[in-house]
Amino acid sequence: METFDYVIIGAGSAGSVLANRLGEDPASRICVLEAGPTDWHPYIHLPAGFIKTFHMKSVNWAYSQEPGPWTGGRSIYAPRGKTLGGSSSINGHIYNRGQRQDFDTWAQLGNRGWGYPDILPYFKRLERRVGEGDETYRGREGSLTVTTMDWQDPLCEAFMEGAMSLGIPRNPDYNGAIQEGVSYCQRTIENGLRMSAAKAFLHPARKRGNVDVRTHAHVTNLIFEGKRAVGVRYLKGGKGGTPVEVRASKEVILSGGTYNSPQVLQLSGVGSPELLQPHGIEVRHALPGVGEGLQDHYAPRSVARVKNIRTINELRRGVSLWVEALKWATTRRGLLSLSPTMVYCFWHSGETTESSDLQLTFTPASYKEGVQGQLEDEPGMTVASWQQRPESRGYVRIRSADPFTQPIIQTNYLVEEIDRRVVVAGMKLARRLLASKPLAPYYAYEDFPGPKVQSDDEFLAAATERGTTTFHPGCTCRMGPADAKWAVVDDQLRVHGLQGLRVVDASIMPRMISANLNASTLMIADKASDMIRGKTALEAVRFPVQA
Ligand SMILES: Cc1cc2nc3c(=O)[nH]c(=O)nc-3n(C[C@H](O)[C@H](O)[C@H](O)COP(=O)(O)OP(=O)(O)OC[C@H]3O[C@@H](n4cnc5c(N)ncnc54)[C@H](O)[C@@H]3O)c2cc1C
Repeated sequence: METFDYVIIGAGSAGSVLANRLGEDPASRICVLEAGPTDWHPYIHLPAGFIKTFHMKSVNWAYSQEPGPWTGGRSIYAPRGKTLGGSSSINGHIYNRGQRQDFDTWAQLGNRGWGYPDILPYFKRLERRVGEGDETYRGREGSLTVTTMDWQDPLCEAFMEGAMSLGIPRNPDYNGAIQEGVSYCQRTIENGLRMSAAKAFLHPARKRGNVDVRTHAHVTNLIFEGKRAVGVRYLKGGKGGTPVEVRASKEVILSGGTYNSPQVLQLSGVGSPELLQPHGIEVRHALPGVGEGLQDHYAPRSVARVKNIRTINELRRGVSLWVEALKWATTRRGLLSLSPTMVYCFWHSGETTESSDLQLTFTPASYKEGVQGQLEDEPGMTVASWQQRPESRGYVRIRSADPFTQPIIQTNYLVEEIDRRVVVAGMKLARRLLASKPLAPYYAYEDFPGPKVQSDDEFLAAATERGTTTFHPGCTCRMGPADAKWAVVDDQLRVHGLQGLRVVDASIMPRMISANLNASTLMIADKASDMIRGKTALEAVRFPVQA
C-alpha cells in the first residue's frame, strides 16, 4: 500500500488550497483524491459557461434536496462541483467575504483564533486584489485574482441609482470596512477567464512534484486503526472501479464539501448510531453532530419585464451571440466574460437591525421559473433577495450504505419565523428597487411575484412557490468545543475523539455567514494549513480603537 504524509479527500476550494500550502514543504508527500475528472472542459473556464456547467453531470454532482415544509412540495436542484477546483470550477465567481460579526460570532461560540482580526490576514494572504481597496483589508500579492465587474450596462447603473434614491449608499468595497451599500460585484475572473481554486492553487502545486492528484478517485470510506485514521479507500475509475487503499503517515484531511464530507464520515462509521445502525454500518465513533445543522441561503427571484433596451436574454441569441463571441476572442471582454450576477446590494430588513441581514443581487436577465440555468426569451431583469444569516437548520444523512447513492439533503428553509420575516422584507425591497424612478424608462411591469401579491402572507406564498438555493450550503461538520453536542471538529479542525483526521471545508462553519461561501472556504483552508504544518498563525490585525 502506498504511503503519503497527507491524504486530502476532494480537490475543491479547500482541497486545492491545502494541497498548495502543504506542498510548500518539499519533504512532504501529498495525495489528493478527487471523484471527478480534470478541469479541461472549456465551459469551466469561460465565465458564461456557468449556465452550461450548472447541469453538466460530468463535472457536477447534480444533487436534489428533499422537499421542505416551506418549499411548496418542491425538491430543489442542488448543483455541486465534481472536478478539479470543485464548486469553485462551476460557481458564479462572486468574491464576497462576509461581515466582521460573522467571524466574531464563530469565536464567541468557543472557537479560539477565528475572530475577524484573526482570520483577516488569511483573506489578505490569499488574494491579488485588482482595483479599489484599503490595504488594511485587501491583499495584493496572493494567487487568487479578484477583479471588479467591468461590463458597462445602463440597467445596472439605473439599478444602483435606484438604490441610492431609496437611501442605500454606493459602497466602493463591500469586502472592506463596511459591507452595507450597493456596488458592482467583485469576481474571481482574470482576463476573461475563471479563476478557480484549481487554477490559483492546485495546478501550481502539482508542478512542484510532491503533490499527486488522482482524478476519478471516488472515496468510499476512511481506514482506522482504533481511533486513528490511517488511510483512505477509494474506487479508481468511480463506480465499479478498482478498489485502492492509500495510507497517511501524518493525517487524513476530509475536504469533500458540505454534502459529501459528512457522507464519507457516516459511511466510515462516524456519526449518530441511530442513523448508522439501520444501514448496517458498524459504529466506529459515535458523534451525533455529523451531518446535522445544515444551513443555506434561500432566495426568491423577483422579475420585471423590460422595455426600450436589450437585456442579456436577447444578447445570448443569434447574431448578437456571434458578435459577443468575437469580442471575447479578441478582447476577453463582453457577455461571455460575465458572471451570472452583476450588482450586489446589502441592506437591513428593519431600522433596528444592527448590520445588513439582506443580500440582494441584480442581473439584467431573467431565468425560466426563476432558477439560474435557462434564460427566458423575452427581455427581463431579476433581483434575487435572501436572509443573510438564517436561523433554520437541516441535515445531511446517508440514504444507504452505498457510497454512490446521494445522501438525504434537507435544508429546512424558512422553518424559523425570523427567516420568513426577513425573506418577505427582502422581496418587498426588491419590488421597490425594480420600481424605482431611475429604472422607470426600462421598467415595463412586474412579472414575479406580480401586482396581485400585496400582503405579507402573499409574499411568503410566492417565496414558497419560487425560492431556490443560492448554492451556499455549510455547517454540517460544525466547529465547536468538545462539550457542545453539535460540534464535529475542534478549533484546530480535528475531529473530536479521533486522531489523524481533520475536516477542512465549508462544512466546518458553525453558523452561516453574510456571504457567498467560496472566499471564506479558501480562508478556512489557508488557516488550517498553518495549523497542520505546526506554524504560528499569522498575526491578528489590530484595528484602531474607535473614539
Ligand atoms: C452553482 C454554484 C454557484 C456558486 N456561486 C458562488 C459564488 O458566486 N461565489 C461564492 O463565493 N460561492 C459560490 N458557490 C459556493 C462555493 O463555490 C462553495 O461554497 C465552495 O466552493 C465550497 O468549497 P468546498 O471546498 O467546501 O467544497 P467543493 O469546492 O465543492 O469541493 C469538494 C470536492 O470534493 C470532491 N468529493 C466529494 N466527495 C468525494 C468523494 N467521496 N471522493 C472523492 N472526492 C470527493 C468533490 O467532487 C469536490 O471536488 C457556488 C456554488 C455552486 C455549486
